[in-house]
Order: sequence, then structure tokens, then C-alpha cells
Amino acid sequence: SLAGGRARLPQGVRDLLVTLAGRHLIGNALVGPVDGACLTVLDPATGRALAQAPAAGPADVQAAVAAARAAGQAWARVPARERGRLVAEGGRRIGAASPDLAPLLAAETGKAIRTECRPEIATAADIFAMFGGLATELKGETLPFSPDMLALTTREPLGVVAAILPWNVPLVLMALKIGPALVAGNTVVVKASEEAPFATIEAARLLADLLPPGVLNVICGTGPACGAPLVRHPDVAKITFTGSQAVGEAIYREAADKLIPVSLELGGKSPMLIFTDADLDRAVAGAVAGMRFTRQGQSCTASSRIYVDAALHDRFVERLAAAVSNLRMGDPLDEATDIGTVINARQRAKIMDYIAQGEATPGARAVRCGRLPAAPDLAGGLFVEPVLFTGLSEDSPLMRDEIFGPVACIVPFSDEEAVLAAANAGAFGLAATVWTRDLRRALRVSHALDAGYVQVNQNLTIQPNLSYGGFKKSGLGKEASLESMLEHFTRKKTIVVDMR
Ligand code: NAD
Repeated sequence: SLAGGRARLPQGVRDLLVTLAGRHLIGNALVGPVDGACLTVLDPATGRALAQAPAAGPADVQAAVAAARAAGQAWARVPARERGRLVAEGGRRIGAASPDLAPLLAAETGKAIRTECRPEIATAADIFAMFGGLATELKGETLPFSPDMLALTTREPLGVVAAILPWNVPLVLMALKIGPALVAGNTVVVKASEEAPFATIEAARLLADLLPPGVLNVICGTGPACGAPLVRHPDVAKITFTGSQAVGEAIYREAADKLIPVSLELGGKSPMLIFTDADLDRAVAGAVAGMRFTRQGQSCTASSRIYVDAALHDRFVERLAAAVSNLRMGDPLDEATDIGTVINARQRAKIMDYIAQGEATPGARAVRCGRLPAAPDLAGGLFVEPVLFTGLSEDSPLMRDEIFGPVACIVPFSDEEAVLAAANAGAFGLAATVWTRDLRRALRVSHALDAGYVQVNQNLTIQPNLSYGGFKKSGLGKEASLESMLEHFTRKKTIVVDMR
């Protein structure tokens, strides 16, 4: 039963789920879909139902876009610094709501509350604070042209922005999109992921409460029934999307028909290059963090191809296996848990398929790390034991495809040029890391890597102010920076005044 799935949660969160059940946010009101349609969101740690989420259709998309459109002109006329102040204040409220939001996020995503959910909320709050402070940067220029003429540029909002989110880090990704969009004077319709919509809707509600109705709306439904009509809506002036490559490409095609701008953050298969002079302890810790094992590897930047100098290879595999085995897999709501579950049964089956394929590959070896939790309550939980593969060749699907699970492939190398060629092969170009104490090599290799985000001797997640975005099939555009607000959420107008 629904109540059964919620029984594990703190009382405040249970109440919140009752409030949110079946409703999303349009014009600052929690409302259900016009036709009352709902879908069931499960707790991936227990397999039990958490609550009903709205299953929006075209009529709900229409209502949300109409609300955003109606609020547009007035919001664009609010002074930029005031918009920034409101967005920063919204971020503070979201940060302060962590005691409710974190268990909610843990329950719906299966991500561990301590290692993933609280840090995600804190980062989302930071991102809102940063964009709030950047309101004063919505500046134009004066252009040298003629002594009798004043030529200048201004930055204008685009109009209604559609922000389509996945389930893996919904609050950070929402902040990256709606923070700059709102500060720049746009109004927004967020399409929450139908897999894990509740923390997204609640966080948006905390911010929207500070804003005029209609400035920020969130709808929830499936991709085909809700996402697709949003993308096609004639009043949507810009689409910002994070999710899979296939959906991103489809959205880009739709947007081309309307000739509207699109930002896409898609998949990855990010390489990690560990050279012979690397600090091995730091590289091992970097691989644990970079593979996002604590998130069951469900990260677009996951360092899932680990190239290690042949001299270090065996030691590295042994140390990494030990480090990953030390992580405690268990109830996402338990403070002691390091690793929670994957998002849903479909995703788990896909990951297990890849693992089986790897194990059946001649010459390959699978090192399984860690233990599945034994608690009877978690028997139906979607846990996956992390696996390190060695001995796979470059053309293995495990080396090419984004698995979005706790599966890392480790490959020895002996030549810088050859390892660069391998690292740069494949469809994606999201992120890469380089591990060496040699500054010249660090810079040379960083320049040569075909990836939008390269880190040396560290492996951080998305950080405010560090421009983030992929090359090749990993996407279009940048997020998390001033540039992302100016380039992706405003349009530039040139005005020339004859002063004679
Ligand atoms: P997905 O592409 O299936 O779904 C993402 C969102 O798009 C969901 O809200 C979904 O309902 C919606 N959607 C689906 N079909 C649609 C359509 N036809 N039109 C409009 N919207 C549609 O991805 P997912 O399974 O939620 O997330 C996992 C994927 O996200 C992975 O491939 C991962 O690489 C990617 N991801 C990328 C980044 C990044 O920053 N590059 C970050 C996180 C996740």
C-alpha cells in the first residue's frame, strides 16, 4: 500500500508526500492533472510504493506554459538585482529545508542520504546563491561606432524556458537551469522526472513561493505525454535539457523546426588517465569519487574508463577493489550507508546485462566489490554490487556504452599518445581526469583530451562557477557559470542612436 511504502519516513516527510501526492505546481498552486491521471513512484530500496505522482498530458502543459507566459512581462520588468535577491533567498530556503528534502530525495531516488542527498541539496543552494549574485552581470556594452551615434547592446530575457530534468541529480540540475533562467528575467516550466519528482516539486515550491505566480512552474509526467508536447509548444522560447542522448537528439530536431535555442547535457563515458608518477592513494580515492560509486555510478561524468600505466595497473586494481569494498551498501535513509540503490528495475536489468556480457567476454576478469545488504526489509531493493572489469578490449560494449551503473573498466597503457587516442575515441566528450605529478604532462594531456571538463589530480562533481558541459555527443552549451546565464538564457540586442 502507499502508506506502507511511506512508513519508513520521518513524520514530516510523510506529511509532505501526502500534500504533494498527485499534484504539481502551476501558477504557485499545487494542482492535479486536468484528467486526474497519476503514476506510482516506488521506493527503490524496498520496492514499495511511495506516492502517486501526477501524469501530466498536453492540457497540463498548456496550462503551465500559459501561466509562465502570462507572468513573463511583469517578471522581466522586475529589476535584475531584485530577481537575483529572490533567487538567492529561494536557494537559502531550499538549503534550510534539507531535513525534509534529503529523506524525500533519498526515498524516491534510492541515493544515500549522507553521501549523496544532503550534499546535493547544499550544492543546489550554492548554485542559486551564485546566480542570484550574478544579477549585476546582465550588462550590455557600448560599441565604438561614430562620434555622432551611441551604439549599445542590451541583454533581454528569452521568454518561457522549458527545463527538462532527469532523476539522478534533479535538484542540482534544476538549480543549474532555473537559477540563471529566472535571474535573467525568463519564466520557467520545469518538467520533473517521472521517476523521482517529489523533491524537485517541493524545492521549486519553496522558491516559487517568493515569486509572482506563474514565474516558476513544475509539471510531472512521462516523456512522451508531457515532455514532448512541452518541447513542441509554440510559446516555449528555449529548451534546456539534461538526460539521455537519444531524447536530447530528438529534442534538438523538434527545436530546429521551431528555430529556438537548445542547451543539452547528455551522456558520457569519461576517461581517467593515471600516469606512472601519479600519487596512487589520491588516484584510488579519485576513482572512487569519479565513478560516483556512492551513487551506484549513476552519473553522466562517471569515470567509467580507467586507463592506468601498466606499471601501476595490478596495484591500482587491488587498491581500488579494497576501497570500493569498504563502502557500505544499505538503506539510503540510514546515516551509516555509503551506497544506496539504482533508480528502477529496468535500469538494474540493463546494468546486470552489461555485467553478464563482461563476464562472458574471453580474457576479461570481473572483480566484484562489496556485499549486498542483508536486511529483510531491503530484500526487494534495487542494489547492484559494484564491479571492476579488467581485460576488456576497446571495442567491448562495456568500454563504449554509457552503462549508468557501478561498473568501471580498467585498462593498462604504456604510451601517452596511444592512451590519448583511446581516451578520445567513442561518441562522448563530457569529462576526463588526468593523474600525474608532472605539470608539463598534465597540461599537454589536458589540452589533447577531447572533453569539455578536464580535471587534474582531482575528481569533483559539478561546482558553481566552473563552466560545465560536454563536447561531441555529450551535449551543447555550458552550465554552472556566468557564461551559461548570458549565452544561454538571454538574447542580445544592438541599439544605435543618432544623437544629431
Ligand atoms: P531520459 O532522457 O530518459 O529522460 C530525461 C527527461 O526527459 C525525463 O524528464 C523524461 O521524462 C524526459 N523525456 C523523455 N522523453 C522525452 C521526449 N520525447 N520529449 C521530451 N522529454 C522527454 O534520461 P533519464 O533516464 O532520466 O536520465 C539518465 C540520462 O541522463 C543518462 O543518459 C545520463 O547520461 C543523462 N545525464 C546527463 C547529465 C549531464 O549533465 N550531461 C546529467 C545527468 C544525467
